[in-house]
Amino acid sequence: MKFTKSFDDPNPIPSKGINNAVRLMKNGMLFRYGYINGGTNDKHTITHNESEVSRLERAFSQYTGHKYVVAVNSCGSAMFIALKAMGVQPNDKVFTNAFTFTAVPSSIVHANAIPVYIECNNQYVIDLEHFKEQIKQQPDVKYFILSHMRGHISDLDKIKTLCDEYGIKLIEDCAHGLGKRWNSEDNEKNNFVGHHSDIACYSTQSHKILNSGEGGFIATNDEQLAAYCILAAGSYEQLYKKHLSRPKDDDLFEDIKLYVPNFSLRMSNLTAAVLRPQIELIDERINSYKEKHDRLITILSDINYIHIPEPINNAEHVGDSLQFNLVGLDEDKINDFVKRSAEKGVKIQVFGIADNARDFRNWQYSFDEMPDMKNTAEIISCACDLRLPITFTLEDIDLIGAIIKEVLDEVTDSELTMALLGQPSN
Ligand SMILES: *Cc1c(COP(=O)(O)O)cnc(C)c1O
Repeated sequence: MKFTKSFDDPNPIPSKGINNAVRLMKNGMLFRYGYINGGTNDKHTITHNESEVSRLERAFSQYTGHKYVVAVNSCGSAMFIALKAMGVQPNDKVFTNAFTFTAVPSSIVHANAIPVYIECNNQYVIDLEHFKEQIKQQPDVKYFILSHMRGHISDLDKIKTLCDEYGIKLIEDCAHGLGKRWNSEDNEKNNFVGHHSDIACYSTQSHKILNSGEGGFIATNDEQLAAYCILAAGSYEQLYKKHLSRPKDDDLFEDIKLYVPNFSLRMSNLTAAVLRPQIELIDERINSYKEKHDRLITILSDINYIHIPEPINNAEHVGDSLQFNLVGLDEDKINDFVKRSAEKGVKIQVFGIADNARDFRNWQYSFDEMPDMKNTAEIISCACDLRLPITFTLEDIDLIGAIIKEVLDEVTDSELTMALLGQPSN
């Protein structure tokens, strides 16, 4: 058995997006603010008052249900601006997940702050007991970037309650949270992940549901935070007036604008042109992911050595990737499993191996002393990650499942044989 499709395929750009982009390139209007200030051509000022980026921000806010949305060049930038908007000062400490992607602690370091890591439990989410302990031990930490890593949603209600109780300001990293509901029994917009925090940050990097290569969003219901984020992303003079998804009170901007740095992290119209027609495809993409994700879970769940954690509460899986734990196998066997799977065309990564950017031990830029994250280290040492691109079919999923089964048999058979022969299994 061999699988031949690529596990790295991004979502293709729909033809509407391609046409938008070509039209834009013909007239060259790639800067989101067009010609409004210092422009020489009045006609442009009028026709391009609603730029692609502004229209995208409005469409995105209509999807997520946030009042205000600011488009930026990445989710990392979004988190950095969010921290600045909330008033993070140099050497302030910020809680975040020990299991997440390196862009998250990096955004904290970018803001000259210090990440304080919280252990993940065996459902890949924040370990609430460890979080409570850390709150008690480090009462000076007043911010928290909660990452919904790989779409695994921590207990949002409990975390929110703890944050409120201890005066901790919450930011959600929704790079993998777009379109996910916290309480799936209730289909209200506000049950989308991203509504427990003051600011939610999204990514449109190619491996996320929306694909523009690079890109991100800041989403909030708070008008002061929105004004700060619009200015900090790179809106100067009167340009904030061109935003369609902004607080209407100009004083919110005028009062602070001379005190807010311009970090030049704007999204360009070209990026927005390929993104905007993807907004209406989000639900369709999620349904397609879900169908295949659930099928693979069904196939894998009765295999020995594989354990797939249940989501907590009613959080639902969106499923553009699948994570499972290999239990009862040592490191050599796990490496062997990864290698043999790759030989059969199934690309699996283990988070806690080698230079993986999702292993906290590799974030040495963020600490002087290695944080003691025993549980997280243990979990990521056996946690496997499998991307499930939209291009895969249900038949592809069946084949992937069969290959995983076959490889596990091979890997564990030799263990059995060795044991029978009375030889050490490594
Ligand atoms: C991709 C990702 C990010 C960073 O997104 P960029 O847009 O590349 O900055 C942040 N957090 C998680 C969990 C991610 O997967």
